[in-house]
This record gives sequence, C-alpha cells and structure tokens, in this order.
Amino acid sequence: MARIIALTNQKGGVGKTTTAVNLAAALASLKKRVLLVDLDPQGHATMGSGIDKHGLANGGTLDVLLEELPAREALIDCAEAGYQLLPANGDLTAAEVALLDRDARERCLERALAPLAGDFDVVLIDCPPSLNMLTVNALTAAHGVLIPLQCEFYALEGLSMLLDTVEQIRDGINPGLSLDGIVRTMFDNRNSLTRDVSNQLSNYFGDDLLRTTIPRNVRLAEAPSHGQPINRYARLSRGAHAYRVLARELARRLSL
Ligand code: ADP
Ligand code: MG
Repeated sequence: MARIIALTNQKGGVGKTTTAVNLAAALASLKKRVLLVDLDPQGHATMGSGIDKHGLANGGTLDVLLEELPAREALIDCAEAGYQLLPANGDLTAAEVALLDRDARERCLERALAPLAGDFDVVLIDCPPSLNMLTVNALTAAHGVLIPLQCEFYALEGLSMLLDTVEQIRDGINPGLSLDGIVRTMFDNRNSLTRDVSNQLSNYFGDDLLRTTIPRNVRLAEAPSHGQPINRYARLSRGAHAYRVLARELARRLSL
C-alpha cells in the first residue's frame, strides 16, 4: 500500500515543488516505486520533470479529478527520473468551480488514486500555494503532510494557519492524517534569523522537525529549466546530497 504524502504550505516559493520533484527522484533511486502528483495549476512539478505541460496528450490531474479519465491512463513514465507523474497545467484552475456540484467534492482525489495504491510505495502530492479545494483534496487523500518551510520571520505565522487546517481535516474528513514532518528549505545556517527561527521550530515541534535541512543551492534553482531532478542535473551538488539524505530520513521514519 502506497503512503500518500501531501507537500503543503499555502505560502508560495517555499520549496514545495523543488522538494516534491527531488524527493520523488531521490526515493526512486532508493528503489521505491514513486508517483508524483502535480496538483498545482502552475504545473511546475510537471515542467520540472521535463514534461511539456501544454502538450498533455492523455490529459492530466483535472480530467482525473472529474472522473473523465482513470488516473492510470494519465500517468507519464519519467523513466530517467525514475518516477511516474500525474501531470497538470493551467486547465486545473477550473477544478475549484467544476468540483462544486460533485458529491463529496473533497474526496475526488482520494477516489481517483485508490486504484493505484498497490502499484506504488509512495505518492507525493505537490500542492498549490493556497488552502483551497485542491489542497483540501490532497489533505483528504493523504496519510501524512510534509511541510516545506523557509526559516524566516513570517514562516511561523503561516504555519499555525496551516496546522489549524490540518487539525480541522483530521477532526472531520481524515482522522488518520498525520504530520510526516517539517523540512527546512533554502537553509543558511550562517544567517542568525534562520538560526533563531530554526531553534523555535525545534523547541516547538521536537521530532516533527526533520533533521535534514535543504541548503540554498543554485543548482537546485537551475535544474527545473533543464527539466531534470537534481540527482540527474548535478548529482554531486550539495542540493542533490541533501535530497538524498532527506529521502533516507523519510524512508526510515515512515517505513516506506
Ligand atoms: P513552491 O513550490 O513552494 O512555490 P518552489 O519549489 O517552486 O516553491 O521554489 C521557489 C523558487 O525557489 C524556485 O525558483 C526554486 O527554483 C527556488 N528554490 C527552491 N529551493 C531552493 C534551494 N534549496 N536553493 C535554491 N533555490 C531554491
Ligand atoms: Mg510549487
């Protein structure tokens, strides 16, 4: 049975997509069967996987959510990266309205992914930067939440709002939802604010704050324009190393 992990943070630019793509590839290199679900209309996880988001011949996440296409038929085999991708593009913007008249509209993704549960060890969902119906679908389908976070002044404020949302979902539609971890991204230990925020996180979250930190690394920012995960684009970079370590930490922690 696949463990479904939603990478969520309603703040944009915190490293959700970078973490989703590179963690997917790093887990694949640990011989895990990985599905990466692009649930953001920006389609960045799709592009970062080297797929032209404007040329999705079989359709993508929207068609799957609306039950117009079985998820299996929309999957793209990103063979070099080592994972399967459920791709998305701007069409997914229509989901918010299109789902309005659906029964149990927060469960559309859960229903769509159910037939694939036996085919994968882990499913990573790259969420949009908001707490909208797409994100609610991700939190409903998921077993756990992975929160990428930049250690800066406003990070903690946004985090409490996100944790409230997770709590609400847990109280209602998805009682089993757990916090799989908080991962510090674009981390620079030389910066004193980073260290302060990091210490606060550590005091408050204890073991839920993952030990691996992802450094700010220019190779990580360059890789998407080459349509490659970091372990292919710059295997020896600090960024690639960090995502390998993160993959091992999560695989151990979650028994993937
Ligand atoms: P999100 O999906 O949360 O909006 P992204 O993963 O797209 O965030 O990251 C935002 C920007 O920061 C992108 O341009 C990305 O390439 C860059 N970025 C992300 N993580 C790193 C990192 N560790 N080092 C350098 N640049 C990064
Ligand atoms: Mg993103």
